[in-house]
Amino acid sequence: NVTDENQPNIMRTPRPVHGAVYSHVYPEKAPDPIVLAISKPACQAIDLDITDEDFADVFSGNKVLPDTRPWSLCYAGHQFGYYAGQLGDGRAISLFETVNSKGQSWEIQLKGAGRTPYSRFGDGYAVLRSSIREFLMSEHMHALGVPTTRALALVETSRDVYREDGPREIQPETGAIVARMAPSWLRFGNFEIFYHRDDMDNVRKLADYTIENVVTEQEGSGNKYAQMFRNITKNTAKMVAEWQAIGFNHGVMNTDNMSVLGLTMDYGPFQVMDFYNPRYVCNHSDETGRYAFHRQPSVCIFNLVRLSIPLFELIGAGDQVDSLVFASKEDETREGVTSEQVLEEYRSKAQHFVQKLLQEEFKEYFMSSLLTKMRSKLGLKECSENKSDMDDVIIPLLDWMTNHHIDYHKFYRSLSNYKMTSEGEESDHEKAVHEWLDIYAEQESQVEESKQTLKAWLAIYRHRLIKEKSDCEERKKRMDAVNPRFVLRNSIAEKVIESFEKDTEDEAKQVLNACLDACINPFQDHYQDPRVEEWIHSPIPDKDMRCSCSS
Ligand code: AMP
Ligand code: MG
Ligand code: MG
Repeated sequence: NVTDENQPNIMRTPRPVHGAVYSHVYPEKAPDPIVLAISKPACQAIDLDITDEDFADVFSGNKVLPDTRPWSLCYAGHQFGYYAGQLGDGRAISLFETVNSKGQSWEIQLKGAGRTPYSRFGDGYAVLRSSIREFLMSEHMHALGVPTTRALALVETSRDVYREDGPREIQPETGAIVARMAPSWLRFGNFEIFYHRDDMDNVRKLADYTIENVVTEQEGSGNKYAQMFRNITKNTAKMVAEWQAIGFNHGVMNTDNMSVLGLTMDYGPFQVMDFYNPRYVCNHSDETGRYAFHRQPSVCIFNLVRLSIPLFELIGAGDQVDSLVFASKEDETREGVTSEQVLEEYRSKAQHFVQKLLQEEFKEYFMSSLLTKMRSKLGLKECSENKSDMDDVIIPLLDWMTNHHIDYHKFYRSLSNYKMTSEGEESDHEKAVHEWLDIYAEQESQVEESKQTLKAWLAIYRHRLIKEKSDCEERKKRMDAVNPRFVLRNSIAEKVIESFEKDTEDEAKQVLNACLDACINPFQDHYQDPRVEEWIHSPIPDKDMRCSCSS
């Protein structure tokens, strides 16, 4: 049931909010909305009927459901290492929360539906090219088993949107809206904004809300705030381990893009690497390589430190936390305020706790998640005698890939075909080595060296498989269920985007939906749509595509 009231268009004025971090705001009316694609798995997750006649109106923001009041949440963040003050959310409007039949709660939000009170200099819109990327990649990541925010629908509008970045120069682009969803959109930056406003009461309220509704597991030492921080640390470590295992470079790991649930969030300049390169930097405005692929785990630690600082006093107070009373700037003289000396003591206690947690536990969570995922990619089972798989098997493989420009995804997918022959027999080795090196079409001079290194690695791998009495057929099944045959490479996303520029609207929609289907079924042996097969087999172009944060 949907009302068709005139939506008040009065709530967009930029304004400071005090003692809160949200404002109610209605989406702008979208001109001529066309639903280009819908993610069925996302709809299923919220028990939504995709044939609902109001679908286009609701997810373009043209109709607001009765008894709901859309809102926008503002946040701050550390961008490229520095505190940047209030910076979001300039173009995301949450429509409502819904609870599915399993009792899971989802917050539904529109990105690009117009300005909010927090838009600053932005227009609140999004262009089609970057919306296509966000829509497809969110659902692809979910299918790949990576924790992520989800995308429900992609809506095109007839709005002209102007962007200076990217290959299209200064000419109007097609506007679009991504309807997206997550159990919670809370970010590290939501805590930072209160802290930097010196509003510790609200830091605490937000932490209490988070513990009650979002990061609900309670475990380990310390009070509930310490436990919340540990859980966020764990979520973050698991998320980044998944990124490292699948070769995902996020590109803008600012604290405003870090989810407390460890969901991959904010698909801007991201890239799934084609060729394994630890120093890869997908974000072209990241000149120092701060968010290079290999730095992602340590950036998580930096970001967790930023999150911990607003929580220091709450964590450090331990079981005295109930008697903790904060002074705010407006209220310096409030009675019963905890003395600065006591607060300093709490802060220093918390600092020790956080340091230990990030130095020891983060590493443990990260390494064990990474090892589990890498073993499954290699078809290796976990066993106690093979604790050193990381050093013995995985690192040498990644080194070889780094030095020889190896297609990260094709390699694992084809590795499942490797059959070990009996001890001493080299024929299958030779065959595999030739096959792989053919795929990678390396420079002549490097082939011999590469061949030798790969042969040596395969001998280690084979030895390891024999040790666990691996069954080739069974292993292939396991490996093909975790190593995607279809990967949303930048070059493929670019082909979808180009189709909207060159082909008829109908053709482009078909291309988009063929790509969506592959994104959400990445492990298939064959795709019905010949375009998908063509994408899988086409060579990777040298040219890089560019997408900035604000497009
Ligand atoms: P990002 O670097 O992509 O995380 O963007 C930081 C913040 O900039 C976002 O949270 C948005 O609130 C804001 N922003 C980006 N693009 C726009 C835009 N076109 N209009 C308004 N706000 C924007
Ligand atoms: Mg962002
Ligand atoms: Mg962004």
